[in-house]
Amino acid sequence: MSIELPEALILARQMNNELIGKKIEDYELRDYERLQKIGFLNKNIKDFDLLLESKISSVIARGNLIRMILDNDTNLLIGPEYGGKVLYHKEIKKLPEKIHLKLAFADKTLLTIRLTGMGALKTVKNSDLEQSYLYQRDFSDTLSPLDEAFTIDYFQELLSTMKRGIKSILVGKDAVLIGLSNSAFQDIIYRAKLFPKIKGSNLNEQQGGALFESINTVVNERIRLGGKFQFVDLYGKKGHYIPAMGPNMKGKTCSECNSGIEKFSVGGGQIYYCPHCQEG
Ligand SMILES: [Zn+2]
Repeated sequence: MSIELPEALILARQMNNELIGKKIEDYELRDYERLQKIGFLNKNIKDFDLLLESKISSVIARGNLIRMILDNDTNLLIGPEYGGKVLYHKEIKKLPEKIHLKLAFADKTLLTIRLTGMGALKTVKNSDLEQSYLYQRDFSDTLSPLDEAFTIDYFQELLSTMKRGIKSILVGKDAVLIGLSNSAFQDIIYRAKLFPKIKGSNLNEQQGGALFESINTVVNERIRLGGKFQFVDLYGKKGHYIPAMGPNMKGKTCSECNSGIEKFSVGGGQIYYCPHCQEG
């Protein structure tokens, strides 16, 4: 289960509530060599010493990235976008067996982080933030669906100029928004009743409006319901959001028209869709 914009925001808000002012007394890294090899963890493990004796000033998220800001010009960047568990422990007993990083606070509480698949865990000084690929990608000028500047007028205008498919408009390195993945894309275009390969400039006003609405619905409902159903929050509590379309609909029928759900490849990813409601 990937942790995307809604889930990253939930975790950051909870961490912000729980961890501000806590002093990091100790840390432990385990089982990290693979992450390090693929560039998702500091090459020099000693960089994590920067965390010691620092206090947490705030925790924020943008896109899929969580940024823990410390009071000594250092940040812990947590990017669990391919999945993972970030858990807060009031007591030391019953810690998860598999972890990548454990932070022990002066008040004897703990935070553990375990990433699955790929994912970033980096200690970065403020002066080096701009060199971080994930930071540049998510803490950038590209709009987040949650930004006030993301309005229907802005979006319609933008779509009318885009002669490429809606997948590349919404997902990936050329996307006009941050934080949307292939998984969110399937859910969004099913709700908007759009053919997965339609071009932005070919959308009429009603379709562009439906797309805007669906983006907002999916992001906000995922936040309101505590994240997607496979996600667990800082307290180990499961999310309740079930996507209207996605791998969870494999072998099922469309709740609107009863057609069999089909799978099809768009822009380097498999997506599920309803061939009737999302006709080309
Ligand atoms: Zn249908």
